[in-house]
Amino acid sequence: MDILNQVGVGRLTRCLKAYNLPVSMADPRLANLPSAKLLTVDRLLDIMKVDKKNSGNEKKIVLLSRIGDTYEQRATVVADATIAKILSDAATVISGVPIHSPVKMVTPGSKSISNRALVLAALGRGTCRLKNLLHSDDTQVMMAALLELKGAQFEWEDAGETLIVHGGEGSLSVPPKDKEIYLGNAGTAARFLTTVCALVQKSPKDEAETTIITGNARMKQRPIGPLVTALTANGSKIAYMETEGCLPLSIHPNGLQGGLVQLAASISSQYVSSVLLCAPYAAKPVTLELIGGQVISQPYIDMTIAMMKSFGIEVTRRVDKETGKLLDIYDIPKGCYVNPPEYSIESDASSATYPLAIAAITGTTCTIQSIGSSSLQGDARFAKDVLEPMGCIVTQTATETTVQGPPIGQLKALPHVDMEVMTDAFLTATVLGAVASGTTKITGIANQRVKECNRIRAMIDELAKFGVATNELDDGLEVFGTPISHLKQGVTVHCYDDHRVAMAFSVLAAVVPKTVMDEKRCVEKTWPNWWDDLNNKIGLDTQGVELAGPTDSVSTTGPSSAKEAASIVLIGMRGSGKTFIGELAASALEWNCIDADVYFEIKFKTDVRQFVHDNGWSAFREAETNLLKELLTEKPYGHVISLGGGVVETPAARDLLKEYSRKRGPVVHIVRNIDEVVEYLGIEGSRPAYGESITAVFERREPWFRECCSHRFINHVEAFADGKFVIDPTVTKRGIREEVSRFFGHITGLTPNLAPNLAWGRHSYFLSLTYPDITPALPRIEELSVGVDALEVRVDLLRDPKAGKQDSPIPSPAYVADQIAALRRVTSLPIVYTVRTRSQGGAFPDDAQNEACSLLDLALRMGTEYIDVEISLPHTWITDMNSRKGCSQIIASWHDWSGDMKWNGSDVQAKYDIADQLGDIIKIVGKANSIQDNFDLQQFVTRMNSRPNAKPFLAINMGTEGQLSRVLNTTFTPVSHPLLPSRAAPGQLTFSQIQQALHLIGQIPSKRFFLFGTPISHSLSPTLHNTAFQALGLPHTYELLETKEIDDRIRATIAAPDFGGASVTIPHKLDIIAALDRLSPAAKAMGAVNTIVPVQSGDGSGRILLGDNTDWLGIRGSISARIAPGLIHSALVIGAGGTARAAIYALSNLHARTIYLYNRTRGRAVELIKAFPNIKIHLIDQLGEWPRDASGDALPPNVIVSTVPASETTMTNDDQKLHFPAELYAYRDGPAIVIDMAYKPVETPLLKLAKDTAQNWETAQGVEVLLQQGYAQFELWNQRRCPQGAISRVVWAEYRRRVASERFGFNFSYILSPTRPLLQLFCPFVMRLARGQGSRAVVRKHPVLRLLSSTVVRAKEQQTSSNSDVSSPPPPLHNGSRWRSFLQILGRTTLVSVLGSAGVFYYITQKERHPGQQLPHDPEKKTIVILGSGWGATSLLKTLDTTDYNVVVISPKNYFLFTPLLPSVAVGTLSPKSILQPTRYLTRHKKRAVTVIEAEAKEVDPINKTVTFEDDSEIKGAVSHTTIPYDYCVYAVGAEVQTFGIPGVQEKACFMKELTDAESLLGTGIETAAFPGQNPSEIDRLLHIVVVGGGPTGVEVSEIHDFLEDDLKSWYPELAGRVRISLVEALPSVLPMFSKQLIDYTESTFKESKIDVLTKTMVKEVKDGSVILQMPDKSITEVPCGMVVWAGGNKGRKITQDLMANFPEVQNNKRGLTVDDHLRMAGADGIFAIGDCTSTSYAPTAQVASQQGAYLARVFAQLAKKGNLEKRLISLSQTISTASGEEKAQIANDIESAKSQISKVKIRPFHYSHQGSLAYIGSDKAIADLPFANGNIASGGVATYLFWRSAYLSTLFSLRNRVLVANDWIITKIFGRDLSRD
Ligand SMILES: Cc1cc2nc3c(=O)[nH]c(=O)nc-3n(C[C@H](O)[C@H](O)[C@H](O)COP(=O)(O)OP(=O)(O)OC[C@H]3O[C@@H](n4cnc5c(N)ncnc54)[C@H](O)[C@@H]3O)c2cc1C
Repeated sequence: MDILNQVGVGRLTRCLKAYNLPVSMADPRLANLPSAKLLTVDRLLDIMKVDKKNSGNEKKIVLLSRIGDTYEQRATVVADATIAKILSDAATVISGVPIHSPVKMVTPGSKSISNRALVLAALGRGTCRLKNLLHSDDTQVMMAALLELKGAQFEWEDAGETLIVHGGEGSLSVPPKDKEIYLGNAGTAARFLTTVCALVQKSPKDEAETTIITGNARMKQRPIGPLVTALTANGSKIAYMETEGCLPLSIHPNGLQGGLVQLAASISSQYVSSVLLCAPYAAKPVTLELIGGQVISQPYIDMTIAMMKSFGIEVTRRVDKETGKLLDIYDIPKGCYVNPPEYSIESDASSATYPLAIAAITGTTCTIQSIGSSSLQGDARFAKDVLEPMGCIVTQTATETTVQGPPIGQLKALPHVDMEVMTDAFLTATVLGAVASGTTKITGIANQRVKECNRIRAMIDELAKFGVATNELDDGLEVFGTPISHLKQGVTVHCYDDHRVAMAFSVLAAVVPKTVMDEKRCVEKTWPNWWDDLNNKIGLDTQGVELAGPTDSVSTTGPSSAKEAASIVLIGMRGSGKTFIGELAASALEWNCIDADVYFEIKFKTDVRQFVHDNGWSAFREAETNLLKELLTEKPYGHVISLGGGVVETPAARDLLKEYSRKRGPVVHIVRNIDEVVEYLGIEGSRPAYGESITAVFERREPWFRECCSHRFINHVEAFADGKFVIDPTVTKRGIREEVSRFFGHITGLTPNLAPNLAWGRHSYFLSLTYPDITPALPRIEELSVGVDALEVRVDLLRDPKAGKQDSPIPSPAYVADQIAALRRVTSLPIVYTVRTRSQGGAFPDDAQNEACSLLDLALRMGTEYIDVEISLPHTWITDMNSRKGCSQIIASWHDWSGDMKWNGSDVQAKYDIADQLGDIIKIVGKANSIQDNFDLQQFVTRMNSRPNAKPFLAINMGTEGQLSRVLNTTFTPVSHPLLPSRAAPGQLTFSQIQQALHLIGQIPSKRFFLFGTPISHSLSPTLHNTAFQALGLPHTYELLETKEIDDRIRATIAAPDFGGASVTIPHKLDIIAALDRLSPAAKAMGAVNTIVPVQSGDGSGRILLGDNTDWLGIRGSISARIAPGLIHSALVIGAGGTARAAIYALSNLHARTIYLYNRTRGRAVELIKAFPNIKIHLIDQLGEWPRDASGDALPPNVIVSTVPASETTMTNDDQKLHFPAELYAYRDGPAIVIDMAYKPVETPLLKLAKDTAQNWETAQGVEVLLQQGYAQFELWNQRRCPQGAISRVVWAEYRRRVASERFGFNFSYILSPTRPLLQLFCPFVMRLARGQGSRAVVRKHPVLRLLSSTVVRAKEQQTSSNSDVSSPPPPLHNGSRWRSFLQILGRTTLVSVLGSAGVFYYITQKERHPGQQLPHDPEKKTIVILGSGWGATSLLKTLDTTDYNVVVISPKNYFLFTPLLPSVAVGTLSPKSILQPTRYLTRHKKRAVTVIEAEAKEVDPINKTVTFEDDSEIKGAVSHTTIPYDYCVYAVGAEVQTFGIPGVQEKACFMKELTDAESLLGTGIETAAFPGQNPSEIDRLLHIVVVGGGPTGVEVSEIHDFLEDDLKSWYPELAGRVRISLVEALPSVLPMFSKQLIDYTESTFKESKIDVLTKTMVKEVKDGSVILQMPDKSITEVPCGMVVWAGGNKGRKITQDLMANFPEVQNNKRGLTVDDHLRMAGADGIFAIGDCTSTSYAPTAQVASQQGAYLARVFAQLAKKGNLEKRLISLSQTISTASGEEKAQIANDIESAKSQISKVKIRPFHYSHQGSLAYIGSDKAIADLPFANGNIASGGVATYLFWRSAYLSTLFSLRNRVLVANDWIITKIFGRDLSRD
């Protein structure tokens, strides 16, 4: 009102606040009052009318003219508009020309200068009058602190306009004891005062020992470390009281020592200013040296020095005498500042930009006094550097700046301005750019992303509301100027609580009518009087605005940035996955994750269990609550905090959580099925035990969790389908990572998951899911949701099968939550959540309002994006819902079923107004009785949409007559799908029908899309896009236009009105640019265009052609589908062409921390690096050699993108081609992906190498990238989600068809599907060949094998890809003609496959039978002696390249025994020979002859490196004992059966270890029992088999049961039914390595088969005819039995114990040999040990042994390589001495190269990759526990049995064995088991 000045208002406000009085209606003390919920300003004015102090409409208010004096001697009458302006939260500027032009004004003082001036004057001598001091919180705390330190005295003059400072001449005192200097969040004050406090000298009067400065929670996170380090190094004593590097600080009063001060100034210039300001008061003159790299914000340092000069101290900056360059060294003399009598504080130059910009935009004149060319502030250059080039006349004197704007609408765009020196002013420049003619590019402002909000993003988003287009750049933005007349009026600008956003948009508001700024108070930070000054000094009227709705929280913009960044708290039962989800969420949000347990451990230096043990539960709970308090205060932003499950046990902690969830941030309850929790907790033991049942704890805590949380996240490990949980990974296609990212992105508001097509002028749709149980439809959701923007869950139609009454109309919240969670696992589409009541056309009871509300509340908690709320619900409840909804949106709906509501009547208007008040989206549904009703509806819609700030409006008519309204409706039209059980409402159409209708009525004209380039005839793009158009029912076409250059045909095509867009490929990607109007930032960065998009020009002048590039999106999509952006630590790009550019751009966008680039031609790589000056790229000279980090560790990449043609690459050493070494895949610690951009061959060398060497690496082919970039292209052209599944199926099928027909000349893909199972069953070898595990050379050479191999590769691809998004085979065809053609195809393909299989079979058998020539023994080579021929040894032999070694195998068995199938031999299912493979069959196929000796090793001498062995066969020759030397010995002798010394076991039990054991088992006892005259009890004894050991071997022996079931009945009918099997196990359960589910399953299967399982039972003795057992209750029982089968465990062999005895100190583990990470035997040289004979952390399994064997083969290959290089080095070193001249130089080069290669040979440690556990449990059932993603898939049953069989079949080492085993299985099935025995 221009009555009390700004200073007075500021002081008064602070005073009221200090007395805890509210100063706005938003103050929580008012806003939280229940009656305030519906209080509006108008309502308040109404209430004031009746106050007797007022006279009706005339409101009387006491006004102050200054503090202490009233404006009038009575209360002044104040206009309603003025009161409303003050009370409203939002403000609007009345657009027009400033009436006070030419304006002359002073803007508020600069904050930086104010703070410096306060310190200088306080430390100075004499009195100084500070004029124009900024009155803000910052200056206030600075003054308070200086007073506290007794450093100065202050007085006010001129009604607070002038501050008089009486300087203290540097004399400072320690504040009184217990008095801390509190600085709030004032950063500048904290930094300046740290050094000021260091100046304090101890005085005897001081009671306190130290000065303590502290701040609020945020301040306690802000860094101060570099300053404290510099001061302590200089002799000050400063201690951190809490967190290292942050406030609070305790500073000893030692004074500043002076001399050399070294300070790191790369973080903040305020540290430098702090030292400079105080330096004159040090004991010695100070030399300040700035270290640590680039000094930041030099202008602020210069400002400090200039101000010090004004106060009498001159600082000298040193200069390099030789170069004349300024150095970062400053000399500050000792002295005392002399206060000038008056010091005028310069206006804030950033603030000055707003009035100057108003002059510029309105064509008026403005002069800002006290900002001129001599200004110390960078922003003072705004007028000259920005406004002048934009067409303003700028006059600048030393102290004043005047701007005269051009006539309105004639501002010119700035082609480019670097605003690095005036970053805060970029917002002002941006709004001017928005109305200038042309494009304004602003750079150098990257830091603005981390200010009060992300200012660049904020400007982009808010300008978009006006219709102004922008492009975000890495360090700035481009603004496409738009004529003022084209700008949208009535926009509400969200200010993000940022003063600069509000003031910048006020400038735009001067020319765009009805612009509203939603948070007007945010300007208080730097210009508290902004709105008044606009009015009074500039002459633009401002008004208060009340935002729509009873609470201002109804907005489409989501929560403010501060709220968005509030930390998330996770609660839930222990074992519910809080930490797991927390880590995923933190990685998705790029936040930090804190596990409260870990935090606890760090803080209390003990773990929780120990703490509870030592101090008891109540002490723990108290500590836990305190810690919670601390975490919530200390980590208020940017953290995901995962709390312990029991935190809710105390009321205090619950209160804290409730308070937090209500006011500050999300508290998310992680919900997991209690059964899963129980199972999980069964194995986890790091927390104290509950002491009560988990279920009881669960029941107690669940209500507390619900009460404390604001959100719920369902973390079901398994998917939910058919009303129960199932383990089906194909259903749960979307990874948990994606869902976590969606959920947390949405609830924090950082990436709200809203439908982009809700934007103005576009059509949006949702699909109504009308299922009683959605889960059966989950596999089809993708198909169902093609084209739509969201999915509607009709909660009222859900029927909970567990609800007792099947058709109860109210589903339970738990059921609904599970349904939503299940849906989330398959789609990221936003969900519209609807509980439609009967009266509104739904199925929910009208009288169950509470239940409806609680279900709607659930929607909010689950982060559902859109919630349909009927406006018939209580408005207070809806209002409350609005206040909690965060980024979710409310659809306020009204349905009229009667048909009475008329669209041109008053009723509908009333409903609209209510819905407008309550929702973000308005939905009104009527009923059409005639087509006219649709026209009336349209008129109503048009009228409502033309209102300012109109909200999205969904208006349709039900019934067939109303279908037209559904076609014309633009917002969220509900659609159906033919596959749905029913339509949600009469007249509902499908998405495709609506598109067709829109096309027919001319709303979607058909368009033509093209591919430009050559050669393009093989392109898959037409398939891709035409499939998409068809799937969406769009009338467009995609065609090829092949030209050699950009000719007239192309020019005519892109100019045609029906041109929809084009893809551009080689050779036009660069040349096309000239034909386009504009380029996207991506296209600019890559210097190439691959997509043309016609867009509307920003100035509305028509269509322009935008060049974009989606190549990078394809790469980004393929990477991010596998690795979260935050997890890319380093990435390698191979190649330096256009695609490499795209790869670099994509990786930079994914925040890859390091990018390596490799190209054979170095020069091109260097050029590419130059093209990305802002991205740090390391050039790599050698593939596989990685730069090292600071700690010396190499950083191998976890992402590789190769852009070179696959035909030019190889896995083997070949000089002509680019060689990929295995070291490329050195990274093994986590997820990794390699992409080969080549389309052909199907498996390129790079991908093949990955599959062969590194299991953690995923691979992606070029076709996948093509698809991904195609999806992006489609979405750019159509602004609609691409039907990815449909496209990828068709494109992959087409790709395979083409690959096959190119190779074989016919469509081979036809035979794919039918032959796959055939091949899998009968030819696992081929499968393995296809997986790259077979003899690749063989496959390469032979066309038939190649053919089959490629078929299987494709089969595998289809299999894998059906799990991922990118591909699945087309669905089977069902109708008649298709069926016939299917039969034809089947016939042909069966023929081809039978012939093919026969050919392959013949070839392989012949190859195996006729091994070729081998290299002879070579004395020059090293000798490897392998002991054993079991799993470990055979796997080694199989993989070992024998070229470089002589190999000797010594084993008492000259064969390999396939142990997993041994139990099948024991029961006669398989014949013994079927599972044996003679070792020579393998060794005869090696390159160099391998000596196989059938003998038992008796001694290994590790000192002399010899092995002594003995022939122990029955027939012995003259020599049967000998010793041979070795260079390397591979010790793989396995283990013996462990009997634990139990009496009788060794002698009387049958083992299950060797073939002889199995052979001796069969039939034992049965024939004896069948012996005539046997008495019944003896028969029972003989037929009782006791199996000891509940591991897989023992369990598999239970296959005996099959024998008894299947065969005994037939052949021994008299004994059938009398045989009994007991399985004895000492542990609490059988199969401890399997999951609980599978254990239960096995036990129940055994139960059904009548196999007794005796757990916790121990064998004490085995006697003839019985076994003595100790039962669980410790009682001893003698159990009669005919046989004891012992499968009890392993122990080391004697030879192993002897070997260990050589190294008693290191070899002391009784389980076996101790080995290191590289499998070297500890203590010995040259001995490697693998398999069961070792004691490692791995289980003694075939899997481990065979992986170890294969690993050793790779180790030997590396050792050989190194040995050969070393030999070469020696020979080169010898020849160099005799060489001369060029030859010498060449040899020197070779020596260097050999050395470098040697250094590259690295042997990586062994890494075990668990492939899962399998066991056969009898009755044609098996169980499997297989690793999947980050967890396990557990399955059991008949299907698993088939899997078990096929897995074992494919694992058998030779085709011969496979044929034999498959044959035995078939024979057994047909004829039963073989019962004969010797
Ligand atoms: C019945 C049964 C079923 C099994 N099922 C599975 C399963 O399903 N999955 C699984 O992963 N694991 C299974 N295993 C375990 C698996 O067989 C072993 O872990 C694996 O065999 C260990 O391999 P290895 O090379 O260390 O020893 P072995 O395979 O036992 O080989 C040791 C070799 O050393 C030879 N040898 C012994 N003494 C000497 C000597 N003094 N001098 C020279 N050579 C010697 C032996 O003749 C033999 O050739 C099963 C084991 C059994 C017994």
